[in-house]
Amino acid sequence: MGESRGELFIVASPSGGGKTTLIRRVMQELSAEGREAHFSVSHTTRAPRACERHGVDYYFVDRPAFQTMAARGEFLEFAEVHGNLYGTSRAEVEGRLDRGCDVFLDIDVQGARQVRAFLPDAVKVFVFPPSHEELHRRLVARRQDSEATIALRIRNAVQEMREYAEFDYVIINERLEDATRALASVVAAARMRPFRVRARVQTILEGFERAVKKEE
Ligand code: 5GP
Repeated sequence: MGESRGELFIVASPSGGGKTTLIRRVMQELSAEGREAHFSVSHTTRAPRACERHGVDYYFVDRPAFQTMAARGEFLEFAEVHGNLYGTSRAEVEGRLDRGCDVFLDIDVQGARQVRAFLPDAVKVFVFPPSHEELHRRLVARRQDSEATIALRIRNAVQEMREYAEFDYVIINERLEDATRALASVVAAARMRPFRVRARVQTILEGFERAVKKEE
């Protein structure tokens, strides 16, 4: 990945972990700084919840349509999560990164692993819920899933959380303000990696080399 290419942030967390709110908050901060950032809208075979809109929260498609896209290689990654298929289309990501736009993916642990395999410079962040009680409370409060679905999501959450050490950063989302600051810090730190600052650093270094040579 070169310096002018956008940064890819993979943000994973169990459902109800609060990552969507967190990502949207950090993106607002980035746009206030004049940086272009995009929240990748995934495809899913899950039925839309009452408050969700096609093309905004997800592209809602049926299984055959999803499978056709998968067979054509249109997904950067896809996985079965809680009994439904979810995938990130290449169209959501690749062109934007090439244009220098940062892209945020809100995906599960399996998807994170697939993306990292061929985009190794992607920054992987795991957002951890602060406790079992709090995750349960959040899932109940959003009134979108039945008790059985919530129980399944929490069981899957435990599986996902065990994988936290595969990530570059772990943010415990106890207070939204603190977690937002933490994610913004990760974004800032990602831009300080050597391959990101190469051109500026080279110019400074060459200035030093010229000066040192003159003194010799
Ligand atoms: P929900 O149904 O609550 O919106 O999402 C359920 C889970 O699917 C979450 O962990 C979410 O991160 C994950 N997910 C959403 N979109 C994608 C995607 O495109 N790919 C993968 N692998 N997981 C996704």
